[in-house]
Amino acid sequence: MSSIIQLLPDHVANQIAAGEVVQRPASVVKELLENAVDAKATDIKLIVKDAGKTLIQVVDNGLGMSVTDARLCFERHATSKIRQAEDLFKLHTKGFRGEALASIAAIAHVELKTKQDQEELGTHLIIEGSKFLSQEVAVIPKGTSFSVKNLFFNIPARRNFLKSDTIEFRHIMDEFQRVALAHPNIHFAFYHNGNEVYILPASNSRQRIVTIFSGKTNEKLVPVQEETDILTIDGFVGKPEFSKKSKGEQFFFVNDRYIKSGYLHHALMNAYEGLLKEGAQPSYFLFLNVPPNTIDINIHPTKTEIKFDDEQALYAILRSSIKHSLGQFNVAPVLDFDRDSNLDTPYHYKNTEAPYPTIQVDGNYNPFADEKPTKLHNSEKPKPRKESFNENNHAKQSASWESLYVGLKDAADSISEVGGMQFESEDLTAPLFGDNEIEQQVNKTYQIHRKYIVNPIKSGMVIVDQQRAHQRILYEQFLTNMTVLHASSQQLLFPLHLYFSTNEMALIRELQLALSNTGFVFESTNEDNIVISGIPANVTESEVNAVLEQLLRDLQDGVPENSFSQNDTIAKSMAKSLAVKNGTYLTEVAQENLVNGLFACKEPNVSPFQKPTFITMRVEDLDKKFAL
Ligand code: ADP
Ligand code: MG
Repeated sequence: MSSIIQLLPDHVANQIAAGEVVQRPASVVKELLENAVDAKATDIKLIVKDAGKTLIQVVDNGLGMSVTDARLCFERHATSKIRQAEDLFKLHTKGFRGEALASIAAIAHVELKTKQDQEELGTHLIIEGSKFLSQEVAVIPKGTSFSVKNLFFNIPARRNFLKSDTIEFRHIMDEFQRVALAHPNIHFAFYHNGNEVYILPASNSRQRIVTIFSGKTNEKLVPVQEETDILTIDGFVGKPEFSKKSKGEQFFFVNDRYIKSGYLHHALMNAYEGLLKEGAQPSYFLFLNVPPNTIDINIHPTKTEIKFDDEQALYAILRSSIKHSLGQFNVAPVLDFDRDSNLDTPYHYKNTEAPYPTIQVDGNYNPFADEKPTKLHNSEKPKPRKESFNENNHAKQSASWESLYVGLKDAADSISEVGGMQFESEDLTAPLFGDNEIEQQVNKTYQIHRKYIVNPIKSGMVIVDQQRAHQRILYEQFLTNMTVLHASSQQLLFPLHLYFSTNEMALIRELQLALSNTGFVFESTNEDNIVISGIPANVTESEVNAVLEQLLRDLQDGVPENSFSQNDTIAKSMAKSLAVKNGTYLTEVAQENLVNGLFACKEPNVSPFQKPTFITMRVEDLDKKFAL
């Protein structure tokens, strides 16, 4: 039998390895930045074009490479960082697998310029798809410059799977921030398509965080410091009241390497217990240092996952030191003049609704008595069904159960038409409201469980989900305003200054035009803040922050490319933030407006998120139930 197994040629093996190491342009950025850090550079420049799809260049002033090393560095498993297996347990460098450059050179056009300090001349080398095209002696400043062009040029499938520039750029930002945060003593500069994204002078850790995440970050941070035999912790956690709904500024570094760890995150969240609103996410920037022989970073090619020897001890120490810092911050004098956090109700209690006082219901009272005397006598009066009214309900509801019976007749009698509207509903065979069936001002609506609005009509009743219905109304309003460009805005007496991180500012800039079309008036857009002097007519000043935060959260997957879907995203997001929530008591007028508003919509049947907004129940349906 003939043998069939062959060793793969190097360039094929490299391409396969590249699949693991290089997922997207950001992976190249990470590897090149880390190599520059390992080469002891004090000044690192990152230049990117088209979110890395066209060019990624990293220039450093580090150790540089000899002529031989300049060629060898592209071989697989070629590294200067370890020599033997034991070295893995005393790592002080980012790299050690010797795979990155071989992988990158297999799937891109790479140009390397490098010179060691003591040499007169350096090396200029070009390699494309693992093929060396040229190597020359050249005049080059001390250090190394790698430029990587046309990533995935020879793997069209991978190239086609790259996301939009916005998303790829976000990933690059993430990688850049991680390396820059871990090394505040290095000067970094970052340019995208010729524009400066960051200039970060060498400084300390706090300064670096503040420069990256805007000036306002400083007052939000609480220092954490702990030193034990098995680990030291240094860094900052965000004050609970500045937590956000989105995970964003959350960073763990172990021995200056950014890592992802659900376990450590859990320890941290545990330390915040009772201090956060539900779903809120605190910021953190924590630098853990452990002896290199107590961790294994070899478990994932991108080296963002890590295994600790004594995970449980780490968990406990991390949790208690953060608790301690947060506690210290709470008892320390508060320098925030606006409020005293000692007086704040802990969020635990903020969330629990105050119980309603018990109410003595006057069973004889009928709010509609003077319109139409009730036909039911006290003794015949049906008992309110328990599931219809929970005991916490508002007095008005407890008292007005009777009116369900009274009003029904009224409504049915006086129903007339809403001009030729067609409604679709699953359980309908014929149109529910034929001509002349429903009155524009339906006489009575009832709110039940602070969630549904029940609206009797001639053929039965409509039950409207208040939150979804309001979302639909707002969504169509915003969308119309944005497309016909006639949004009305209310001028603010004092312009609002709102601060955002660099990432968030980038998103806001992209959406500024669309946001203006909803009624926001931007007085200025600055590096880390915006000044708003007008807001949409249906938004209150206190809601602005929540609306924009929700919007930024909804843009996790990037800003849509065309203006139609941008408008759609904004309208959906604002409708979600602003719609009346379940659990809100609505006055009768508000209930009526809601029902009328819903049925005046173009698509009243579903919320902007494609959930049903109302259901109908015909008298026959009810009859059937009673026939059982
Ligand atoms: P690793 O970083 O795991 O060692 P790489 O493929 O990233 O593997 O790099 C291979 C080798 O090339 C490194 O070990 C280092 O000796 C050299 N090298 C890479 N980038 C630089 C740089 N910017 N300056 C100096 N040497 C570098
Ligand atoms: Mg490396």
